[in-house]
Amino acid sequence: MPNLLISPLNLLRSSLLSQAFASCFVATHVPIVFFLAYVAAGGEISSQAVLIVILLATILGTAISFLLMRHLLAPLSHVVTELRAYRTEARRPEFEIVRNDEIGKLMAEVGSLIGSLEDKLSRLRRQAHTDALTGLGNRRWLSEVVNAEIAKSRRSKQPLSVIAFDLDHFKKVNDEFGHDVGDEVLVAVAAVARETLRSYDLIARLGGEEFCAFLPGCDIASAAATAERMREAIAAVRLDKMGGRGFTSSFGVHEADLQRQRFRDMLKCADEHLYAAKNMGRNRVSLQPMPEAVGPA
Ligand code: GH3
Ligand code: MG
Ligand code: MG
Repeated sequence: MPNLLISPLNLLRSSLLSQAFASCFVATHVPIVFFLAYVAAGGEISSQAVLIVILLATILGTAISFLLMRHLLAPLSHVVTELRAYRTEARRPEFEIVRNDEIGKLMAEVGSLIGSLEDKLSRLRRQAHTDALTGLGNRRWLSEVVNAEIAKSRRSKQPLSVIAFDLDHFKKVNDEFGHDVGDEVLVAVAAVARETLRSYDLIARLGGEEFCAFLPGCDIASAAATAERMREAIAAVRLDKMGGRGFTSSFGVHEADLQRQRFRDMLKCADEHLYAAKNMGRNRVSLQPMPEAVGPA
């Protein structure tokens, strides 16, 4: 018995077509009900009076059907507004789903579609910004996040230092122990860098066996001390597969000139200092570029 009562109501709630049909039904029958009420109340049945009553009743019926249709379709314009804001301002849509009809279901579907798209996008963004071997950020990630850090240091007038480092004779490690062991070395170096640096330092693998770190709030002296700690920690790493042999690395440290330099200039200076460390015999930290060659007088 209750099913007989609930089913039509459920049907009405879950079907836009039923709601539209019911609205039209109400709107078109209002004039007749109105007219019958008029006659039942003893109203005059002259052709002029009938015309006026029918006219008023149709206007009322039209207004009712307009209001009902507007109410039925209102969530669609909300969906359009939210989707446009999502496309133009990247603002994630918020759908409050209060209906169980096709529009409610459409909103739920669009909401979950956007949710899964966003999940996939953030996974892809993470992949595009992460070095798959070491899990560190890559060059693309660094170049995207470093500008905010440079701007912050400029505003707060805090120093910002850059460390570029590179494994020494890494090709020999690969040649002697194999590429897989070389990969393990890179993973171990990334772990040392993570442990030595602070959580808000930016560290990236730029490519091959070359790494770079940006240290906000560090002047050249404290950045050099950090680089020296990393150098020692890397030299102390021992991997079983290398039979007790270690490996070393060279470092170039540069304190950024925040007024004049951009990311590339800072990195270039740190790279030049790294080049000097290589030339001075490797396994060391350099704060200077190579001295200019002095030719014969
Ligand atoms: P230097 O001390 O002058 O830096 O010498 P190096 O041998 O370290 O430098 P070089 O540029 O000659 O060689 C870099 C090597 O790094 C060559 C390349 O095979 C290796 N390499 C680059 N990327 C990877 C990687 O992802 N895994 C492994 N195992 N080796 C890599
Ligand atoms: Mg190298
Ligand atoms: Mg290299």
